[in-house]
Amino acid sequence: MNLNSTQIFDIAVLGGGISGFSGALRLQKRGFNTIVFESHTQIGGCAGFFIKKKFSFDVGATTLVDFVEGGVGGNFFDDIGLPLPPGEYLDYIAWLPDRHIVLFRDKQKWGRERLEKLGNTENHIRFWKLMDVVTDVFWKATRKNIQLPINNFKNFIKSLNAIGLKNVFLVKYYNKTMMDVLKSFHLEKDKPLVGLLSMLIEDTVHSTIEHAPFINSALGATIRGAGLMRAKGGMKEFWKYISEHYKNLGGEIKRSHRVISFEKDGSNWKISTNKGIFYAKKIINSIPLENIYDLSPEFLKEKLANYISQNKNLKGGAIVVFLGVPESEVANQILTHHQILIDYNSRLGNGNNMFISISKKDDILSAPSGFRAVMISTHCELDEWQNLSESEYQSKKKKIGDKLINYARKVYPELGKNPIVYEIGTPMTYQKYTGRKIGSVGGFKQTLSNSNSHSVPHDINVSNFWLTGDNTWPGLGTVAGLISGRIAAEYASK
Ligand SMILES: Cc1cc2nc3c(=O)[nH]c(=O)nc-3n(C[C@H](O)[C@H](O)[C@H](O)COP(=O)(O)OP(=O)(O)OC[C@H]3O[C@@H](n4cnc5c(N)ncnc54)[C@H](O)[C@@H]3O)c2cc1C
Repeated sequence: MNLNSTQIFDIAVLGGGISGFSGALRLQKRGFNTIVFESHTQIGGCAGFFIKKKFSFDVGATTLVDFVEGGVGGNFFDDIGLPLPPGEYLDYIAWLPDRHIVLFRDKQKWGRERLEKLGNTENHIRFWKLMDVVTDVFWKATRKNIQLPINNFKNFIKSLNAIGLKNVFLVKYYNKTMMDVLKSFHLEKDKPLVGLLSMLIEDTVHSTIEHAPFINSALGATIRGAGLMRAKGGMKEFWKYISEHYKNLGGEIKRSHRVISFEKDGSNWKISTNKGIFYAKKIINSIPLENIYDLSPEFLKEKLANYISQNKNLKGGAIVVFLGVPESEVANQILTHHQILIDYNSRLGNGNNMFISISKKDDILSAPSGFRAVMISTHCELDEWQNLSESEYQSKKKKIGDKLINYARKVYPELGKNPIVYEIGTPMTYQKYTGRKIGSVGGFKQTLSNSNSHSVPHDINVSNFWLTGDNTWPGLGTVAGLISGRIAAEYASK
């Protein structure tokens, strides 16, 4: 192993996913000298991309959340001095077993659609009224930099200001689940409403309607209202756009540099990678908790252990089908994003709740002219993918891939009949490319016992070391990654 340089960076960011990289960019823009270590050949992590036969596929996240002026994404681009990337803002269709509902971005259209398609009794109206109040207050607070868990007086005041004194009464919902609230309106047996909310909650809070905290679920269920978009050219162009800016600002990206260990070296950190040793005054870690535990010095392991055991049964996986198809296979629908629930009574996952994301017509950065890139994703449990022989694995993979395409034909009857590309990603694929243990993706499943006040903080009382990533507050997704990256960057800039 060679000593790569005697240069001491101000801040080293471990892991080049959206959480860590966005933090590095903010800091670089503010004049700090930063370096990002990424084990894969390219940055992006679970919001990354791969290219096959001139198609560019998003490997996980296909949609960027709250990328509007004044939104979390908009504020990020303001902070780093770049315009928002071009893209398609999305309405999408939720296909329930007995009806379909357009999830409009426009508040008024959505207000009409939900009453028309999901019921307009007094209880429905009162439920949606509460949802509107909660989401309005907490989306605003999120954009105003509310910070949890509250671990000091300053954070308390900051959070109070973000929520606003007149809205403090909403704190009574802090320890309620979405199901608790539905029950209080006698709506817990309303299948279409419960079905739709369950899908949205699984996708955004990674949890069930019975366990997901109400406020987090309400925010998750309204992401499209907050400006859901797919970047032109998908995640490939998004990463190109922000990584070029980072480099222009003088930031250093070390791709194919796997962090092997790190330790204190006087007042600095010594970071060992497979390609050499580097030094930095401060570290922001965005490598998932369980992975960083293995690489950490003993004193840090002690700090991380409790959080790992708290969340050990709250992990989940994903399966994604990637199709490169002729335009004609998807020409029957105008909207490019769809979510499908097959059966109200079966457990979610493995196709029963799947998200279809298709590159926009004429987005030739995502697919060759006359073709479209299709990504179909669903949640899955991780255990069932463990300890399989190669032939068992291949057969299970093929079976689930075919099943997802078959379900997607509810929306696109011709889909996948003549694909140019047909690939299937499983938890094993995520493990291979993002290093995530047993392929656990998407952050911990959010419950009352591990979110908000109980979530993994960014500051764990280790000097010059902070955590970010979808394992820390506020959890999963691109919007959460930007928030947690910002909080870690604020700490590191002091
Ligand atoms: C199928 C799927 C669909 C999704 N859809 C959406 C969506 O539409 N919208 C949305 O907002 N979110 C979505 N998400 C969630 C979102 O993608 C993730 O929450 C987010 O990308 C996580 O970013 P992160 O930076 O916290 O973690 P990661 O992306 O996992 O980043 C961590 C990085 O660390 C690197 N790394 C690991 N170990 C090492 C090491 N030892 N040395 C150096 N580097 C290392 C990894 O390679 C990785 O790049 C989806 C997720 C999945 C799986």
